[in-house]
Amino acid sequence: MTTLRDPLAQVLGPKTSGAFEKVFGLHTAGDLLRHYPRRYYTRGELTSLAELREGDHVTVLARVEHASIIGNPRVRGKERLEVTVTDGTAKLTLTFFAGVHHHHRVLRDGELCLFAGTVSSFRGRRQLVHPEYQVVEETLPEDRITAELAAEYATELLPVYPASAKLSSWRIATAIDVLLDTLDAGDDPLPEEVREQYDLWPRETAIRAIHRPQDQADIQRARKRLKWDEAFVMQAALAQRRMAAAAMPAVPRPPVPDATAGEFDRRLPFTLTEGQRFVGEVIARDLSCAYPMNRLLQGEVGSGKTVVAVRAMLQVVDSGGQAALLAPTEVLAQQHYRSITGLLGPLASAGQLDSAEHATRVALLTGSTGVRARRAALSDAFTGDAGILIGTHALLEDRVQFADLGLVVIDEQHRFGVEQRDALRDKAVGSRPHVLVMTATPIPRTVAMTVYGDLEVSTLAELPAGRSPIASHVVPAAERPRYLERVWERVREEIAAGRQAYVVCPRIGDEAPGEAGGDEDGTAADGEDADFTDRRPPLAVLDIAPALADGPLSGLRLGILHGRLNPEEKDRVMTAFAAGDIDVLVATTVIEVGVDVPNATAMVVMDAERFGVSQLHQLRGRVGRGVAPGLCLLVTDAPADSPSRDRLDAVAATSDGFRLSRLDLEQRREGDVLGATQAGRRSSLKMLRLLADEELIAFARQEASALVEADPQLAGHQALSEAIDDLLGPQRAEFLDKA
Ligand code: ADP
Ligand code: MG
Repeated sequence: MTTLRDPLAQVLGPKTSGAFEKVFGLHTAGDLLRHYPRRYYTRGELTSLAELREGDHVTVLARVEHASIIGNPRVRGKERLEVTVTDGTAKLTLTFFAGVHHHHRVLRDGELCLFAGTVSSFRGRRQLVHPEYQVVEETLPEDRITAELAAEYATELLPVYPASAKLSSWRIATAIDVLLDTLDAGDDPLPEEVREQYDLWPRETAIRAIHRPQDQADIQRARKRLKWDEAFVMQAALAQRRMAAAAMPAVPRPPVPDATAGEFDRRLPFTLTEGQRFVGEVIARDLSCAYPMNRLLQGEVGSGKTVVAVRAMLQVVDSGGQAALLAPTEVLAQQHYRSITGLLGPLASAGQLDSAEHATRVALLTGSTGVRARRAALSDAFTGDAGILIGTHALLEDRVQFADLGLVVIDEQHRFGVEQRDALRDKAVGSRPHVLVMTATPIPRTVAMTVYGDLEVSTLAELPAGRSPIASHVVPAAERPRYLERVWERVREEIAAGRQAYVVCPRIGDEAPGEAGGDEDGTAADGEDADFTDRRPPLAVLDIAPALADGPLSGLRLGILHGRLNPEEKDRVMTAFAAGDIDVLVATTVIEVGVDVPNATAMVVMDAERFGVSQLHQLRGRVGRGVAPGLCLLVTDAPADSPSRDRLDAVAATSDGFRLSRLDLEQRREGDVLGATQAGRRSSLKMLRLLADEELIAFARQEASALVEADPQLAGHQALSEAIDDLLGPQRAEFLDKA
């Protein structure tokens, strides 16, 4: 009897199991049984040989048309066997240089076989050299021939597995046969009620059927059940993690009436949107609880997440705690500091003469903070005099200590890893702080459920009233040079109307060979497609800025911003731009996240095809923040109808960040989406597709959460508990602990 957890070596012997381990990283019977067929053939359906491309590793079903030995049979080593196989329309040549006579005997004319190998080309013909092959029996033994059996035989589904040069599809099939013959898959991790409700097969039935289906319907049912397995087990793990987090003690920080938070609201120069108010209430309630908040706030670019965060931070400050705000870039940390102290006014100057009654202190700490300011910030954080500490990665350093850290806010969280979230969180003494993470890269619900499955998700869908729409256009500079001239005219018009503009380039310029941009200049390589050749190097800030100053934008006040500037210079440039002392800011993606200058209304993105979809959407979010309409011009040399151009057209056509992030996700591989934050091993999703299986994941989450709530330790669900172990592997304890 074979169970899913049996080591492969025990079932298949060390030699075979070694190959599986080496080639595919499979260790147990369960691992191999989750190596699902890529497709299925029937004996009646030959592989379309015309579609094979050079370099493909293929397993093809084809019929031998002709085989002959070529060369001088009397001179040993000089002969070869050439076999022509066909699917009825196209042909493929197989060449053997060794074992020529043996292969000639087996590969008789008319024989139906599976062949596996790498497609190469010889004198313009596609061929397989020394393919592995297996003869497919087509006729039943005489004594068993009946009409039905023959028909069944012709339609039997032959699985084709993802294979390699070392392990052919049928060697995999043979090994799986061995496992299936003795398999006892044990108890089902999916409770019977759930199986009944969603009309799902028992697990063992599905495992058998995916490898040995009777018909197409079997494959569909098996797939559905196996997807459920993946979704349900992962969601159960996440539910456990949520429960574990909720079981941690945290200091409740309930709202204090007539204190800073209330005063802040009264001073706000605008009315909160419906969404801001609603999310604010949810967060206020979370913060009042005796267990830690773990909330993701996702909101369209410009939806006003910062204000929501500030209100939460003030609630914590009012009840005697401190809050830390972590931003991914120096530029953004500085901006947050300026705008938050601006909004707070006298509320932010505790200890000074002009301070208001409920005042606190706001401190800024970045890599470039001067010695004296740093000492003051560290001391204020340590004593508790600073209610709010804003900063970059510098906040994570050991010497940063808090008197009573009650809330951690992480802005633009997609720029950080879980470890950084954890590092900041661990600075709370005694109990867990509340955590609010924010992102303007909205992701579809089910992806959020999986990637951030341990977080509660809130969404700010609307933009504050009075926002102007952003008009986006693709400018095909190569085809229409005149259009590019018009771009600079438009920029001049905006400046003449008292507005400001950004020009974004993918590169800083002047790099030493091999050197990328500064660490704040996010990669602009996301969107790169290899779909047009003859590419010059990407345009650079340090080249474009002088060219514009001497050319189409002469006479305007140009500024430069990129990651290699020193921090004081960055701050000086951003402050000057915010104050209107710079007309046009030529920058890298260092301005991608968070930068907020409402008077900037135009953005020109050079070599726009070099940026990813979400990145462009973020960039574009820098304009259209005020009352004047925003304009975003995506300049590109990508030819019409190229995939690059299609992506840009999509960005220009919609301002819906959710739709664009979907588009972005569809173009990436699942593993990239899940990244390091995924529960479990990278390879854990075999069947499930986060986007395509949204509904299934939502149901699985619902059922898994209910089950874990009723039985947090899974005492009555041994099989599920084991499945979670298998999913998370040795990381399980850590995963739950990190909650
Ligand atoms: P994001 O969600 O992209 O981080 P911000 O928090 O930077 O957006 O807010 C964008 C701008 O909108 C800021 O200038 C902010 O002061 C302003 N803002 C926020 N909420 C409102 C509101 N309810 N009404 C008007 N303006 C608002
Ligand atoms: Mg922001």
